[in-house]
Amino acid sequence: MAYAAGRPEDVVVALDVGGTGMKCALVRPDGTAVHTERHPTDAGRGPDAVIATILDVAEALAHRARAGGFTPVAVGLAVPGVVDSARGVAVWSANVGFRDVPLRELAEKRLGLPAALGHDVRVGALAEARLGAGRDAGHVLFVAVGTGIAGAHVVDGTAAAGAHGAAGEIGHILVRPDGPPCGCGRVGCLEAIASAAAIARRYAQLSAPNGADDPARTAGAAALPGASEPTGAAGQPAVSTAEVAARAAAGEELAGWVWREAVEALADGLATGQALLDVRTIVLGGGLARAGDQLFTPLRAALRDRLTFHREPHLVPAALGDQAGCLGAALHALDVLHAGGPAGSSAGAGDTLDTEQTRPSDDRQEPL
Ligand SMILES: [Zn+2]
Repeated sequence: MAYAAGRPEDVVVALDVGGTGMKCALVRPDGTAVHTERHPTDAGRGPDAVIATILDVAEALAHRARAGGFTPVAVGLAVPGVVDSARGVAVWSANVGFRDVPLRELAEKRLGLPAALGHDVRVGALAEARLGAGRDAGHVLFVAVGTGIAGAHVVDGTAAAGAHGAAGEIGHILVRPDGPPCGCGRVGCLEAIASAAAIARRYAQLSAPNGADDPARTAGAAALPGASEPTGAAGQPAVSTAEVAARAAAGEELAGWVWREAVEALADGLATGQALLDVRTIVLGGGLARAGDQLFTPLRAALRDRLTFHREPHLVPAALGDQAGCLGAALHALDVLHAGGPAGSSAGAGDTLDTEQTRPSDDRQEPL
């Protein structure tokens, strides 16, 4: 649970490093941020330059804390991709360009403070469960729906990482055996249908002149008379997910069909999650959750339709926005500190190895 022994002036230097930007903060043990800032990741510069920026930003934050009368007690880092929290190594992270980067050790050496490295979605779940929309729920399933779909199960403030650190990969639950291909190599995964990226991609494919080649179009053809929207270059959705949502809300048939398919698939995935985990609250985050009632109203109904003897969970939007990863990185660092260091950590999020290398993209904080 949360680090309770802190003094009021204690803060954690926290950085959530994504493919496009870093969210940074000085976070008190109670989870309040006394300062926040953002920096571009600019991953195109290469991993060494990104690492240098992370360390520079972290050091500057520690200086800023001291100048403001605070005492930095730890560094909390979160990155996407494959994260070995026990060793503090960013094993593989496509968007950031990391491969076997010992970020924890680098941060400890540079700042002279204990550091912890967590996985972005799992620490985000930790923050939502302790401080955000899942607060007081006890049992929480956090699902981030953005470029991909990933989740984490938090029980009494602790995120379960699984035996191999790969728990919560709800995006790769099979929901449509004859569905579109997924980045993981299989077909019909939840992520291939209901992620924000999949919604835009499917809309583009189905509205393309050759969209009839797509089996999903054939399946939905009866509901799609005269659908013929212009698209961009092959593989490049010409219409954003937000625009698909807007067109669906405006009554456009194709957009409405794609949106409903995504909602139905998400309900299938969440029903599976609820059957397995029996949580009190499901917190939906990521870009798609910003669609608000257009998503939550039909999704709650579709989920209810699928539950028989299972108790219906509260289905709520995330409350911390894109700050969740940063706050969670701080909570994770305090957990590790409180447990006496990485080797003794049993309460933190993302304790061992996450396996997300199959994702086509792993930055889930992008806007809808
Ligand atoms: Zn998959």
